[in-house]
Amino acid sequence: TVPASDAVVKTTCPYCGVGCGVLASPDGQGGAGIAGDTEHPANFGRLCSKGSALGETLGFEDRLLHPIVDGARVSWEGALGTVAGGLKKIAEQHGPDSIAFYLSGQLLTEDYYVANKLAKGFLGTPHVDTNSRLCMSSAVAAHRRAFGSDTVPGCYEDLDEADLLVLVGSNTAWCHPILYRRMADAKAKRGTTIVTIDPRRTQTGEEADLHLGLKPGSDTALFSGLLVHLAGQGAVDRAYVAEHTAGFDAALERALTIAPTIAATAAATGLSEADVGRFFALFTRTRRVVTCFSQGVNQSAQGTDKGNAIINCHLATGRIGQPGMGPFSLTGQPNAMGGREVGGLANMLAAHMHFDNHEVDKVRRFWSAPNIITGEGMKAVAMFEAIARGKIKALWVMGTNPLVSMPRADEIRAAIAGLDLYVVSEVLATSDTARATAKKTVLLPALAWGEKDGTVTNSERRISRQRRFLKAPGAARADWAIMSDVAKRLGHGAAFAYTSAAQIFREHAALSAFENDGTRDFDIGGLADLSDRAYDATAPVQWPLTKRGPDPRKGRARMFADGRFYTFDKRARFVAVQPPALAQPATAEHPLILNTGRVRDHWHTMTRTGKSQRLSAHRAVPFVEIHPDDAARYRLTEGGFARVTTANSSAILEVTISDGVRPGDIFAPMHWSDMTASNGRVVALVRGTPDPVSGQPELKATPAAMEPV
Ligand code: SF4
Repeated sequence: TVPASDAVVKTTCPYCGVGCGVLASPDGQGGAGIAGDTEHPANFGRLCSKGSALGETLGFEDRLLHPIVDGARVSWEGALGTVAGGLKKIAEQHGPDSIAFYLSGQLLTEDYYVANKLAKGFLGTPHVDTNSRLCMSSAVAAHRRAFGSDTVPGCYEDLDEADLLVLVGSNTAWCHPILYRRMADAKAKRGTTIVTIDPRRTQTGEEADLHLGLKPGSDTALFSGLLVHLAGQGAVDRAYVAEHTAGFDAALERALTIAPTIAATAAATGLSEADVGRFFALFTRTRRVVTCFSQGVNQSAQGTDKGNAIINCHLATGRIGQPGMGPFSLTGQPNAMGGREVGGLANMLAAHMHFDNHEVDKVRRFWSAPNIITGEGMKAVAMFEAIARGKIKALWVMGTNPLVSMPRADEIRAAIAGLDLYVVSEVLATSDTARATAKKTVLLPALAWGEKDGTVTNSERRISRQRRFLKAPGAARADWAIMSDVAKRLGHGAAFAYTSAAQIFREHAALSAFENDGTRDFDIGGLADLSDRAYDATAPVQWPLTKRGPDPRKGRARMFADGRFYTFDKRARFVAVQPPALAQPATAEHPLILNTGRVRDHWHTMTRTGKSQRLSAHRAVPFVEIHPDDAARYRLTEGGFARVTTANSSAILEVTISDGVRPGDIFAPMHWSDMTASNGRVVALVRGTPDPVSGQPELKATPAAMEPV
C-alpha cells in the first residue's frame, strides 16, 4: 500500500554510502517533500545538496513505463516469456556459464539476493558481478587478506572520537558530505587534526591541516614509509602484534625495500621531506587515528595493496576496533555493502561465504539449489571482455549504466550488439545502456527510489529500510518480482515464491546464520524471524545481529575489539605490498595522467541528479582541470574547450585551470554521457587495467594528451 498524502515516511537516501535517513512527505501528486531524519544515526537530520534535492528528481519524465522487446511495447507476459525462453535456449545450447548478470550498488538487498540466488543456485552461472566492482572491491579484497573476512571494523562514531583523521583518495567534503560535516565538527569540538592524501588539492584538502599532494599511484610508498617509521620510532605495539597478528616481519622487510627513510618516501611520492616527516610524526604520536580511504585508493591497478598498506599501519599500532581508531573504507554507493552481504561480487558466494566445498554445500542445501556453482565467476572487466569475444551470449543488466561508467565503454557498446539476448531492468527509457541493442533486446521497467521497499547497508555496516511512498508508475515492478517470475517460467517456482521484500529479507537473514558457528562475520540471524510488521518498522541497526549474542536485535558498533579476527588462527595478517608502479605510465604521445572522479552535486551518470536544475547549476558542462603551467604549454585557456585523447577514445571538455592538480596531471569528472553532453563521456577514455587481486579497474591514472579545439 502507498502511504496517505499526509504521511511522513522514513526512508534512506539513494545516493552515497553514508546512508542518510530521509523523511519523505508525499504530496499525493507524485511528488514529495524531503527532509533529513533527525533520528537516523548516520546523519541526525542533516542532508547534503544531493539528498536535499531528492524531491526535485521525482516524476515520470523519461521513465520506462512498459516492457519493450526489440523496440516494441509488449505485455509482461510476453517480456518474461522472451527472457525465460531466451535464457533457457542459450543455457541448453552454450551452457549456463554463457549467461551473465551485471548488477548494481543501487539495488536493494532483497533484489540483489534474488539475483544471486537465481544465477548462482538455479541457472548455474557464476558470472554475476556488479558496478560495486568499480567502487570498493579492492577494499573488500584488502579486508579479506588482512582480517579473513570483508569486515569494516569501525563506525561513524569513531570519526567523532578521533584525534587524527587521515583521508586517503577521498574528497570527503564533496563525495561523503555528511560524514565530512561530522569530521569538521570533531575538528571544532576536540581539535581533531585532518590530513588529506590525494594528488588533487580538493575542497577537502583546502580545509585540511595538512595536505599531501602525492604522485598518482604512490600511496603504497607513503604507507610503507610510515610502517618503517613506526618501527624505527618504537611505536609498534609489539604485544598486540605478537598476540593478534602474523606476517609483520615480512611486511616490514618489504616496506624497507620500498621506502626505507623519510627521504626515500619523499622521493617516491613526490612530497617534501618536511611534509612526510610531519605526517609521520602526527600518526606516530596520536593514538586515536582513523584512516578513511575511498576511490583514490580502490580505483587503482594496485588498489588492494594500497588498502593493505594502510591496514598494516593500524595493525602495527593496535589501532583497530577501539573508539576513535581504525582503517575505514568509505563505500561509494548506497548499497554496495548490502551487495557484498548477499554475494553480489563474482568472487563471493552468499552471506560472505567463500567457494570452499564446505560452504558451497551449505548454500546448496539451504537453497535446495539444483545447479549451485562451485567457483568464482568473471569480474566486471573480464565479463565485458568475454561478451566481446562471444563467450557470453546473454547479459542481464540491472540498475546501472555501464555504457557510461565502465572503462572502454565504446568497446562495450560494440560487444553488446553481438549478444544473443540483452536484458535491461531499468527505470529510464533513455539511459545509454537502455538505448543499446543486441540481437534480442528486452527492456523491463523497474521501480525507482520512493516506489520500492527493501533494505540497504551503509559504510558502517548499518542496515536501514528504504520505504515506498509513491505509486508504481505504468507497469513498473520490483526487480525481485521480475526475477521471481522469470525463475518460475524456468521451472523454479517453489524456490522463488516470494510475495514481499520482507519474506526475502527473512530468508537472507536465515542464510547468514545457517550453520554459522561464529566463523563467519556476517550474521543477521537475529532478524530472521521478523514479522512483516516488524520488518517494516525496523530501525537502522549495525550487523552482526547474531542469535548467539545476548540480544539478537542489538547490533555491534565495532569489530575486532578483542583482537580476534576471522582467519583460521584468529590472527590478522600483515601483507607485504608491491612497490608502487602505474599500470600505464605517461608516454611521449600521451604525456599527461588523467584522473577521474566526481563533482559535488552529481551522482554517477546523472540519471537522477541531472533532473534537478539546482544540482546541474553547480557544474553545467563536462570539464577537465589542468595545472596553469600545462595549460600554457598546450595553449589552453580558462573556459575554452579541449580535446582529451587517450589510447581508447577522445572527449571534448571545457577547460578549468587550477593549481589544485599537479603539473602533469589532469582531472575530469565521470558523470556526463552521450545523453547529457555530446563527446563528454570520460570513463570511455579509460583503459581500466584491473587490480590483480580484486579485479577493480584503474580509473585514476590513464595517459592522455590535450589540445585546444
Ligand atoms: Fe545522500 Fe550521501 Fe548526501 Fe547523505 S551524504 S544526503 S547519503 S548523498
